[in-house]
Amino acid sequence: MINEVEIRKEIIETGILLLEKGLVQGTGGNISCRTQKGLLITPSGMDYTVLVPEDIVRMDLSGNVLEGTRKPSIEKEMHMKILSARKDVNVVIHTHSVYATAVASLREPLYPITDNQVAVFGGKIPIADYASIGTAKLADNAKLALDDGNGVLLSNHGALCVGRTLKEALMRCEMLEVFARIYILAKAAGGGVVLCDDQVKCEAEDLKNRYGQ
Ligand SMILES: [Zn+2]
Repeated sequence: MINEVEIRKEIIETGILLLEKGLVQGTGGNISCRTQKGLLITPSGMDYTVLVPEDIVRMDLSGNVLEGTRKPSIEKEMHMKILSARKDVNVVIHTHSVYATAVASLREPLYPITDNQVAVFGGKIPIADYASIGTAKLADNAKLALDDGNGVLLSNHGALCVGRTLKEALMRCEMLEVFARIYILAKAAGGGVVLCDDQVKCEAEDLKNRYGQ
């Protein structure tokens, strides 16, 4: 069994990386990780750089705090609902990265205009309907829009990615931001041709066979 103190430390390191990579600002964003007993989640409104392992809160998937004296993230319900629905992922990371938030404020999906987005996300990144921060409605909307994908935009708010590991979810958050940036730049330059469904399907299947070791 993996030492849980190590998971807590990796959650904190991931939070600091979110800050350093510009994917969150200040105390924004939140991270959760499934464990053998419930989930571990970042505390509400605390600076990632001062967190110690005991600040990470353990909860069950019904929202009860099992361990820790800190108040869990305001978005705990979003994490709980996604981890409950998605047995194939262990990590949820919510960010406020600038370009992803800009696209999310359009209340439109992030359409695939690069092959690389298809390779990482399998096509468009959907948009969750608007709901206020920290509400059950936002959690439901995020879960619904995410479906079986790896990333979702949250209307007028930010983005969220999932993964089997903290590293995988972080990589997806970084890549989602890259694709959002390319999208905004292409729009500003007068357009950007969205790949059609056939191209997306063909690309996604083809890459499975040809890319990587
Ligand atoms: Zn947020």
